[in-house]
Amino acid sequence: MAARLTPQRQDYGMLSDRTRMRMVDRLRQAGIKDERVLAAMYEVPRHLFVDQALATRAYDDVSLPIGHAQTISQPLTVARMSELLLAGKHGGKILEIGTGCGYQTAVLLKLGVDVFSIERLGALLDKARQNLRAARLVHARLVHGDGHFGLPEAAPFDGIIMTAAARAVPEALIAQLAAGGRLIMPMGDAEQHLWHIENTPQGLQKTRLDPVKFVPLLPGRN
Ligand code: SAH
Repeated sequence: MAARLTPQRQDYGMLSDRTRMRMVDRLRQAGIKDERVLAAMYEVPRHLFVDQALATRAYDDVSLPIGHAQTISQPLTVARMSELLLAGKHGGKILEIGTGCGYQTAVLLKLGVDVFSIERLGALLDKARQNLRAARLVHARLVHGDGHFGLPEAAPFDGIIMTAAARAVPEALIAQLAAGGRLIMPMGDAEQHLWHIENTPQGLQKTRLDPVKFVPLLPGRN
């Protein structure tokens, strides 16, 4: 049994390298320009963040189920949000809301930022911790809690990225943005858009961007 598994895994390793390269080409064609983001997307083994049965589809530009009625965002969305979050910046402290399977967390870690990530479902947070360990990315601070309240004890943040859709901007998050910091989040209900909200000296600057489809930001933790 073990003898049969080993060669398959090696084949899969080679396949995933080629398919990862193809994914990066597609991201470039779709308008992702930040080479740091493209490199991070290439480096993170996305197939480790989905169930084995879905691993062959891990590099397709689709969202996939990760259990508990949640999904891993499609690669283009992860790349786009990372690009918006870090445009013109190097390093810094980032708060992610909605850890899910930990894939976006992994991309942010590869981008060299300090990551704090909050997830309301304890079972998913455990899964994310395992996935990140398998990908050898262990230095994120993972927190089991309700992201509506942010993480005041670690604020202020240079950037906040939310990967579940809220009806309105959670006030606590605005209060935890550093000067010049930005919040990238999906907002809406049946119809959602990505929003870029920047804490400028003149006040909050809110810009509505692409239409998107995210699971809803829910209250409380489980
Ligand atoms: N970034 C994730 C996407 C996960 S989907 C990835 O790369 O896989 C969105 C996640 O947000 C889900 O896991 C969901 O449980 C979580 N979520 C929803 N409401 C939340 C809240 N109030 N606080 C923290 N996490 C929340």
